[in-house]
Amino acid sequence: MALKEGGNEGLNTRVIHHGDSFAGDTGTVMPPIFPTSTFAHGNSAGFDYTRSGNPNFRILDAVLASVEGCSHATVFASGVSAITAVVSQLKQGDLVLCEENLYGCTVRLFEQVFAKFGLRTAWVDFTRPEALQEIRSHKPAMVWLESPTNPLLKVIDLQEVCAMTQSLGIPVLVDNTFATALVQRPLELGATLSLTSTTKYINGHSDALGGAVCTNDPEWHQKMVFSQKALGLQPSPFDCWLITRGIKTLPLRLRQQMANAAALADQLAEHPRVNWVRYPHRADHPQHAVASRQMAAGGAIVTVSFDATQQQTYALCKRLRWFTMAESLGGIESLICHPATMTHASVSAEVKTRLGIDDGLVRFSVGCEDLVDLQMDLQQALEQLV
Ligand code: PLP
Repeated sequence: MALKEGGNEGLNTRVIHHGDSFAGDTGTVMPPIFPTSTFAHGNSAGFDYTRSGNPNFRILDAVLASVEGCSHATVFASGVSAITAVVSQLKQGDLVLCEENLYGCTVRLFEQVFAKFGLRTAWVDFTRPEALQEIRSHKPAMVWLESPTNPLLKVIDLQEVCAMTQSLGIPVLVDNTFATALVQRPLELGATLSLTSTTKYINGHSDALGGAVCTNDPEWHQKMVFSQKALGLQPSPFDCWLITRGIKTLPLRLRQQMANAAALADQLAEHPRVNWVRYPHRADHPQHAVASRQMAAGGAIVTVSFDATQQQTYALCKRLRWFTMAESLGGIESLICHPATMTHASVSAEVKTRLGIDDGLVRFSVGCEDLVDLQMDLQQALEQLV
């Protein structure tokens, strides 16, 4: 499976090796953990208090910037913290033009938290050509995208949207959590900010939470550093250490996960009770041409619409042995999720109906298990649905 390369060294080399370990001349191969809240005044590395910086943050910043092929990465306590950091740089009355299918908690933040501070939002289907006109007519302070989207896996033409926003001087944020920089590079396509929940593929082991914002814009980088310390959005040194360890195997994991996902998408598409399967690199994906151009591979999430009631869909999810029914995605273990009642439970019923996040929709996060085991497991669960 092809992955995005770029940079002088290969991807595997860049995720395994990082810059300074801040360990002096100990010769340590793995970086130490720096569990300290404060630092002696005037130290040569420039640390003062962990809310505004810690060696484990800097180590992870460097690896993430190298993988993304950009100048700056800033780490946060979670994906939601990273979102908060960016939005805290906007002001009362600003309008954010959002893709209408975002992760449920991003929608909740905009509608139930930031709205209280006077931030306005408008929701648009960015896969429709008219969306470009909406940017022109709304003149928003920021455009907020996710591609592929959670959970419908809509693929937005990032280059096309960014060409329009650049001509109007509007910053674009792309939530790149589902693709990762190994599959898609939003900054190279013209985005100002590329945001990732490092909780997911980057860490890959479902044992830490984190988020990051990558950019080539030095002003935005300063804004992110400011938000990290001013809002207390910093991660823990231990979580950064875990994520630094996790990312070392990202290309290896992702290749296996994506190969499994592509095969399972084909298996699911054959089933009579499946209305449709979404997988970006399948020929029947509605934005297949954009996905083939923009994404080096199809990713490892598969979303399926079953012709089934909520009870039948839940029963199917629970019958699976190797897919745990759980929130989250991107770990080495396979998970299955019922977005309408889990990740998108906080989205209004009306919006869910309009978008098609209904009782028969499930999202598979495909892991690294042996494909044959996943296929047999899926088969036994599907047989009972018939
Ligand atoms: N963005 C997307 C696309 C997500 O799927 C998630 C979580 O599922 C987040 C952001 C939030 O990340 P976190 O759970 O690390 O706060």
